[in-house]
Amino acid sequence: MIRRALQPIEIIGGGLAGLSLGLALRRADVPVTLHDSGTYPLHRVCGEFITGLPEATITRLGLAPLLATATPLREVAWFRNGRAQVRHRLPKPALALSRHALDQSLAEAFVAAGGDLRERSRVSDNAAPAGRVFAGGRRLARPEWVGIKCHALGLPLHAELEVHLGDRAYVGLCPVGDGRVNVSGLFRQRPAAVFVPIRRATTLLAWLRACGLGALADRLDRAEIDPDSHAAVAGLGFSQPPAGDGRLRIGDAFAVIPPFTGHGMAMAFQGADVALEPLLAWSRGEAGWDATVQKIDRALRRLFRRRLATAGALHPFLVESGRQTLLTAAGRLRLLPVTTLYSLTHD
Ligand SMILES: Cc1cc2nc3c(=O)[nH]c(=O)nc-3n(C[C@H](O)[C@H](O)[C@H](O)COP(=O)(O)OP(=O)(O)OC[C@H]3O[C@@H](n4cnc5c(N)ncnc54)[C@H](O)[C@@H]3O)c2cc1C
Repeated sequence: MIRRALQPIEIIGGGLAGLSLGLALRRADVPVTLHDSGTYPLHRVCGEFITGLPEATITRLGLAPLLATATPLREVAWFRNGRAQVRHRLPKPALALSRHALDQSLAEAFVAAGGDLRERSRVSDNAAPAGRVFAGGRRLARPEWVGIKCHALGLPLHAELEVHLGDRAYVGLCPVGDGRVNVSGLFRQRPAAVFVPIRRATTLLAWLRACGLGALADRLDRAEIDPDSHAAVAGLGFSQPPAGDGRLRIGDAFAVIPPFTGHGMAMAFQGADVALEPLLAWSRGEAGWDATVQKIDRALRRLFRRRLATAGALHPFLVESGRQTLLTAAGRLRLLPVTTLYSLTHD
């Protein structure tokens, strides 16, 4: 029997969504070209802990060896005004790991599987030919939020995962291997007059102090910061899926969940997982492109609708002073339905 050649797939964006999809497609022999505007390895602004990643997705995408070095975390401490206010356990363990290492090992696995990885290759999204998948991360938003991160060494933690609530900001700390602690913050953009940009090495410290997290800034100042690990992004916003426009989007390109959930990476992998089978069918010539795009888009909307809506509604409780007070008071009184909120934002 003569086998028809598989139709090639082109992926724009080599973060977790694009790389994991590319790798899974390559393992099924589909020719894949992946364009990323950057190079590997690189430090990305990310809290670097993954919550709610289903075992089935890990299995279907063959991620287990890539996640083998992750540290499982369960204990979370919430800090406000320099003091731990609430401690609880996550209903399921989170996986903490360095994005610098994870994205690099995914890129290497993709190339080893025969993928054509084109670094420093930016592709515009003007055209959406059949076979093109958009995985280029978040779409441009109003410049509302700034994300800043670094890796610190010699920084003792007071819980497996620390979350610090500040003035229109929150910051997460977790261990990511090799004695490193990832420190990653989300800050509401402030007028330039309030915040004076400083040297890259002290930017995070300055933002921490500007939002009332001086005690955390002092701890970080006493640690050793990996100078290469500083990363910052502006213009962050949280988004719902865009109206269907015939483009196949996965990961943050599809929708962005607020980062306090620690769930954006899992959604990036789940997007790749959901897209895999329909893309294989298209590649084998068993389905048309438009039907394939619609099928994946519908499945992603169904899967993510509730968690995006719930996380969006909860986000103000992390960043607005009055609501932070309510949140921490409810936590201290053990009135926070942690398991229910976790399920609403992750399932
Ligand atoms: C402050 C902050 C903290 C976070 N903390 C966590 C956390 O603790 N846990 C968690 O799970 N998630 C967290 N997230 C979210 C998580 O980082 C993202 O959801 C995840 O990285 C999305 O992966 P992705 O592959 O969709 O996109 P990205 O990882 O953004 O990758 C997109 C890639 O596409 C490339 N690209 C973009 N445009 C083009 C183009 N035109 N041509 C070619 N290449 C292009 C970019 O260079 C990039 O490499 C956090 C986010 C922020 C901002």
